[in-house]
Amino acid sequence: MPKHDLVVIGAGPGGYVAAIRAAQLGFDTACIEREPALGGTCLRIGCIPSKALLESSELFREATHSFAAHGVKVGSVELDLATMLARKDATVDSLTKGVAGLFKKNKVTRYEGHAKFVTPTKLAVQGKSGVIEIEATHVVIATGSTSAPLAGFELDGDRIGTSTEALAWPAVPKSLVVIGAGAIGLELGSVWSRLGAKVTVLEYLDRILPGMDAELATEAKKIFEKQGLVFRLGARVKSAKRDGDACIVEIEGQEPLRAERVLLAVGRRPNTQGLGLETIGLALDERGRIPVDAHFATKIAGVSAIGDVIAGPMLAHKAEEEGIACVEFLKTGHGHVNYDAIPSVVYTAPEVASVGKTEEDLKRANVPYKKGSFPFLANGRAKAIGHTEGRVKILVHEKTDRILGVHILGAHAGDLIAEAAVAIEFGASGEDLARTSHAHPSLAEIVKEAALATQGRAIHI
Ligand code: FAD
Ligand code: NAD
Repeated sequence: MPKHDLVVIGAGPGGYVAAIRAAQLGFDTACIEREPALGGTCLRIGCIPSKALLESSELFREATHSFAAHGVKVGSVELDLATMLARKDATVDSLTKGVAGLFKKNKVTRYEGHAKFVTPTKLAVQGKSGVIEIEATHVVIATGSTSAPLAGFELDGDRIGTSTEALAWPAVPKSLVVIGAGAIGLELGSVWSRLGAKVTVLEYLDRILPGMDAELATEAKKIFEKQGLVFRLGARVKSAKRDGDACIVEIEGQEPLRAERVLLAVGRRPNTQGLGLETIGLALDERGRIPVDAHFATKIAGVSAIGDVIAGPMLAHKAEEEGIACVEFLKTGHGHVNYDAIPSVVYTAPEVASVGKTEEDLKRANVPYKKGSFPFLANGRAKAIGHTEGRVKILVHEKTDRILGVHILGAHAGDLIAEAAVAIEFGASGEDLARTSHAHPSLAEIVKEAALATQGRAIHI
C-alpha cells in the first residue's frame, strides 16, 4: 500500500496550493482528485471561465457602446459565441495543465479518483480501474463546495441550471431569470446581458451583494440597471419548472415570470458527501461544514480541513491562504491567515471590491469611525480611460486612525484593493496611505485621495 507523509483530498486552489507548499516543506506529498483536470471549481467551472467570459462579453459591449467615443469606428459588430466559448475553454485547459506541471515539478504524487476515509490515516480511492488504498500520516480535506439546490427547482442541466451550465450555454437566451443577486448572479447575469439576453435578477433580500458595503451596493445597482439588468428585490423564489421550451419561475406573492433560461445562484454548500466522515466519527456543524481549530485541525487526530469545506468566505484566495497555513502549522507549528485582510471582488463592470469592515459591521460593533470617500469622476486617469463611475471609500478608527475597511466601486477595483489589503495587513493608518506617493496619472490616486478625505484634506475635490 502506498504511504505518504501528507495526502490532500481535492485539487482546487486550497488543495493544490497546500500540496505544493507541503512538498516545498519536505513532506512526501500526494493529492487525490476525482476530476481528470486539476484546479477544482475555481479553475474548471468557477473563477477562471467566468472571468474569461466577463472579459470577452465586456469587449463585445465596448465595441458596440464605447469604441465610437474614442474615435474608433468598427462598423457592424458580430458575436461569435462559439469562438468566445472555445477561448474560455482553452484558458481553462492551459491553467489546469499548468497545475499538473507544478505537481510534477514539486514531486507531488497525483491519484485520480474519489477518496473515502477507511480510517483517519487510510483512504480508499475509487478510480477508473478499481479501488486502491493509500496510507498517510496527515490528511488535509480540501473537497470544496457545489451549487446549493433550492427546493422546488427542477435543475435539468439545460434550461434551468447552475453556474456550471451558464458558463457553457451554446446560444444567447432571449430572456434569462437569475435567482440571487450575489457574486455569481451578477457576474453571469452581466455576461449574458452584454451578449443580448434580457436579464431579470430576483433577490430575496432588499439589496444586492449582501456582505458588501451597502452604500456602494446601492450605487452599483443603479449602474447595472443602466446597463439593462432588471432587479426585483424582496422576491422569494418558490420554484422553477420547464413548460415546453420556456421556464416558469414562481415568486411568493408575485406574478410568475417566464423566461427561456433560469440560472440558480443562491449560494454554495460544502462537499462532504461520500467522504466517509461518519466512518471516522467526524461530525459537521449546523451548516454542513467541517469544524476546525485555529490550526485547521479537526477533532480527529491527523485530519485537517481547509477552503470552502470549512467556515468563512467561499473564495479561492482564502482557500489558498488556509492551505499554506495548514501545512506550515503541521510542519513548523507556525502559520498565518488574517481574516480581516481577505479581499473580496465581484468582477462586474465596474468591479466591486472590499476588504476589512463595512460601515454596517462597525455600527453593529459600536466602533467609532471616520470615513473618506473620493469619486472616480475627479481622477485624471479615470477620465482618460473613460471609466468615471464609482468611488473609493475608506473607513478609519476615529481615535487611532487605523484603517478598518476599504470599499471600491469602479474600474480595476479588483486590482486597486490589493494596496488596501496590504495596508490593513500591516496595520497602516489613514495618514500612512495619504502620505504615500502614488503614481500620476493612476487610478491608485483615488485610493490616496480617499485616505486624504478621511482627514478632510482631499486635494482634487
Ligand atoms: P474547490 O475548488 O471546490 O475544489 C475541491 C476539489 O475537490 C474539486 O476539484 C473536487 O472535484 C474535489 N473533490 C471533492 N470531493 C472529493 C473526493 N471525495 N475525492 C476526490 N476529490 C474530491 N472565488 C474567488 O475568489 N474569485 C472568483 O472570481 C470566483 N469566481 C467564482 C465563479 C463561480 C462561477 C464559482 C462557482 C465560484 C467562484 N469562486 C470565486 C469561488 C471559488 O471557486 C471557490 O471558493 C474555490 O474554488 C474553493 O476552493 P477549494 O479548494 O476549497 O475547493
Ligand atoms: P451568494 O451567497 O453570494 O449570493 C446568493 C444570493 O441569493 C444572496 O443574495 C441571497 O439572498 C439570494 N437568495 C437566496 N435564496 C433565495 C431565494 N429563494 N430567492 C431569491 N434570492 C435568494 O452566492 P452565489 O452568488 O451563488 O456565490 C456562491 C459563492 O461563490 C459565494 O460564496 C461567492 O463568494 C463565491 N463566488 C465568488 C466570486 C468572486 O469572488 N468574484 C464569484 C462567484 C462566486
